[in-house]
Amino acid sequence: MSRPRIVIVGAGFAGYRAARTLARLTRNKADITLLNPTDYFLYLPLLPQVAAGLLEPRRVSVSLAGTLPHVRLVLGEADGIDLDGRTVHYTDPEGDGGTLAYDRLVLAVGSVNKLLPIPGVAEHAHGFRGMPEALYLRDHVTRQMELAAASDDPKSCAARCTFVVVGAGYTGTEVAAHGQLYTDSLVRKQPLREGMRPRWMLIDIAPRVLPELDERLSRTADRVLRRRGVDVRTETSVQEATPTGVRLSDGEFIDTRTLVWCVGVRPDPFVERIGRPLERGRLLVDPYLQVPGHPDVFACGDAAAVPDLEKPGQYTPMTAQHAWRQGKVAAHNVLASLGRGERRVYRHRDMGFTVDLGGAKAAANPFGVPLSGRLADAVTRAYHLAAMPGNRVRVAADWFLDAVLPRQGVQLGLVRSWSVPLDTSSPELARVPGTPGPAGREPDGEAPGKSGQEVSPLPEGPGPVRASEQKSETEKDS
Ligand SMILES: Cc1cc2nc3c(=O)[nH]c(=O)nc-3n(C[C@H](O)[C@H](O)[C@H](O)COP(=O)(O)OP(=O)(O)OC[C@H]3O[C@@H](n4cnc5c(N)ncnc54)[C@H](O)[C@@H]3O)c2cc1C
Repeated sequence: MSRPRIVIVGAGFAGYRAARTLARLTRNKADITLLNPTDYFLYLPLLPQVAAGLLEPRRVSVSLAGTLPHVRLVLGEADGIDLDGRTVHYTDPEGDGGTLAYDRLVLAVGSVNKLLPIPGVAEHAHGFRGMPEALYLRDHVTRQMELAAASDDPKSCAARCTFVVVGAGYTGTEVAAHGQLYTDSLVRKQPLREGMRPRWMLIDIAPRVLPELDERLSRTADRVLRRRGVDVRTETSVQEATPTGVRLSDGEFIDTRTLVWCVGVRPDPFVERIGRPLERGRLLVDPYLQVPGHPDVFACGDAAAVPDLEKPGQYTPMTAQHAWRQGKVAAHNVLASLGRGERRVYRHRDMGFTVDLGGAKAAANPFGVPLSGRLADAVTRAYHLAAMPGNRVRVAADWFLDAVLPRQGVQLGLVRSWSVPLDTSSPELARVPGTPGPAGREPDGEAPGKSGQEVSPLPEGPGPVRASEQKSETEKDS
């Protein structure tokens, strides 16, 4: 084989690392193609800071073309794979189809919002898995605070400044922690009636926040959240979401216009289409990250069920730490399968976790050493700067500006409620006007109690459309 064709699907933690490692090791002696719907790698762990107006969205969006020399970027979403014919079919952002032929394939399509069958949630909640959702939340929260400040009705004012976050994992905990700080900063500029204070609620069915992490991190996070005024409710779940609020499992009805759904993620449903064995929705691979029976196909990251050699019988958790390292191993094993070097198994022990709580507070346990307060904050920031594959100076500059200047509380209103439905297999793309919702449903898109303004269409212009949506739209027209 003169110039092997290597196709990588997905440019998240796993796919980006695989592409970067392959580009470095092959020294332009292979055709490396990266298929991704956006032209950037999204550094998800800092997304809560985007929603809270601390970081500008482009800071966490690392240019693929700018940081991956010798890798051909193809914009689009894979919508079919022919394992026998060795081709990937995709749809580009303008709805045109294309096919990529490969000798080796790396699948790294990540995950999407997890749904639970709770009445009203799919209609009234928003997830937190992609940039459009973060931008939506930032604008929505800002708007609620502005409308609350102008309102003469105490009930409506209280509902607008009540923000309910469901799921106290690292995403929900960070969203609530940053959210409370952000809305407090808005109130300082535009006070609410009768000294009212915005109220953030963090709800989880588990007995503690950060249930999947070390208990010491839990205690730190719980303490910081409660001191900050976040209403933490453990062993509580949501029974129903309505246009005006949320009913909790203890029967209490919370008037709110905001329901943020952070109960976790599920593998991107695209992997189901491959027709190979799955483990709880993840594509089953061997410890070499190879799909059994297909030595030319590799999978890694959230979408792959990778045996955890440190915990026999289990699969590695869906974290950036694993995805990033698996991307590197996948790259080495792709090359080994082409006759360069030895293949290796994926084995990695957790190095600890960092949870950014905003306001110079964090909870971290690097190498198992529990840290809190400013030291944890410094470790957390240093970790993120080191882990980001680009934009470090820009991120540090935003942090500096936030430390010395008041937070900018303006809403641009470009991402609307209906364009970021919870039930989507494409959280990285905002839905465009005129496309139907999941399962052919027209998007109603109203989060709890959204005003009519919420459903006004986006500005005209072509936008990203999923292949399935494009097809349904054509069918609808015909
Ligand atoms: C808000 C938030 C905070 C987080 N914080 C942390 C943290 O602090 N620490 C930690 O360890 N983990 C964290 N995680 C989890 C971590 O981000 C994920 O485990 C990690 O992103 C998984 O990497 P991945 O490469 O598998 O998927 P992703 O990073 O999600 O990348 C998947 C890529 O595939 C693309 N894609 C999807 N479908 C297709 C398709 N059909 N065709 C082509 N491309 C496709 C997507 O656009 C995306 O670019 C966080 C997650 C979130 C949502």
